[in-house]
Amino acid sequence: MTMDNTPGKRLAKRLSDRVHAELARAAETLRNRPDYSRVYDYFLELVVKGCDSKAVASRTGRKAINMLCVQVPPELIHAAGLQPLKICGGSSLNFSLPETPALMCPMLKASMAAVSINEGFGLGFSGGDWVIPTTCDWVVKFPEIASRVWRRPMPRVFWLELPHLRERPYGAQRWLEEMFRLKDFLESIGEKITGKSLSQSVALYARAWRAMNRLADMRRDGTLPPVWLMLIMGTFFLDSPERWTEAAENVTPSPVRDSAVRVFLAGSPIFFPNLKLPLLLEEAGLYVAADDLCSSERVIPGAVICHDTSEYGVISAIAERYHGACLCPTFIDNDRRINNILGRKKDARFNGVVFHVLKGCHPYDIESLALEGELKRRGFRFIRLETDYTPEDNRNLFTRLEAFHNTARDGAHERQDRA
Ligand code: SF4
Repeated sequence: MTMDNTPGKRLAKRLSDRVHAELARAAETLRNRPDYSRVYDYFLELVVKGCDSKAVASRTGRKAINMLCVQVPPELIHAAGLQPLKICGGSSLNFSLPETPALMCPMLKASMAAVSINEGFGLGFSGGDWVIPTTCDWVVKFPEIASRVWRRPMPRVFWLELPHLRERPYGAQRWLEEMFRLKDFLESIGEKITGKSLSQSVALYARAWRAMNRLADMRRDGTLPPVWLMLIMGTFFLDSPERWTEAAENVTPSPVRDSAVRVFLAGSPIFFPNLKLPLLLEEAGLYVAADDLCSSERVIPGAVICHDTSEYGVISAIAERYHGACLCPTFIDNDRRINNILGRKKDARFNGVVFHVLKGCHPYDIESLALEGELKRRGFRFIRLETDYTPEDNRNLFTRLEAFHNTARDGAHERQDRA
């Protein structure tokens, strides 16, 4: 029997065909929107034409390092001559994956399925190298579950231990040590990291961050539809930062529907082709003026500022940015999340908060309870939507969002009357 006829390969091929058809359909739906512009083609091509490490490596000319979660500083990976690739998944067709827990985080399940498909379920598994920060339980257990699905251990995993108490001095110190361990790991795969290569990477990602900020400002000002912003942000790791940034800088403002009620979108991440929530929000007349999703406005936490350009100086600045400024709900001392939402009120002018919880995503689920009470006390309208990647609950979600639209609109009127 040849490799191509093995059950794993056949399953991979079947799933791969279905997933690619789903991606193409979702891209076509976006292309048929009245607000479609050719500047979005670059981003659509990225999501349709391969998000796997081989495709990304051949696109960028650099070996891709798979990473889970946004705490891994891409600057450090890039400075070693490598390409950071955040593994994420949005396909709704991946739930037939064997040997995975039923209530697993849909995003990680889809991510695992995407890698499984590309690797033929472990047969001839080349593996790639992984950097995994110890954020939520699903992320921590990812290699264990993946090893069962792929029937072999994940070849090389670098565990980035994330201190969950970050306000204590030893938390910051431990994280800095982790950065130097990560540097050694990356150098064992790629090139030696120097102060100069670090400074160059920091400058590249700072430019990308400015481009992202500009897009977020355009959305806030009503000249970039939220659905397109989410697509664009979700493609950041699929190409070189230079090319992606150039394409992002070419996106021009265009007016969008201004009668919608403005909301802030918080919670679990959203990845193409699973745009069901942004599309339902739009249909219900709700305009996402700002968000704190790790798949959208939080793809990178900000530009790294370093006055000391020595290797130690730049790595310290990177460590501070990716720990101190991160809004991940897995931190214990995390007032920043609510402060971030409250702080955005003035410029983004929203009346309500839509909180997205992916079924099985415990960190955001738990956090939504604390945020709901606090935000309501401060006069915001709040709705918590728990869902997954399947379309079965679309009608139900829409009905709830329509009702929420009316409440948030009335709230906005009350505020105007009081002003
Ligand atoms: S935080 Fe939530 S969405 Fe992110 S990996 Fe963990 S369970 Fe999944």
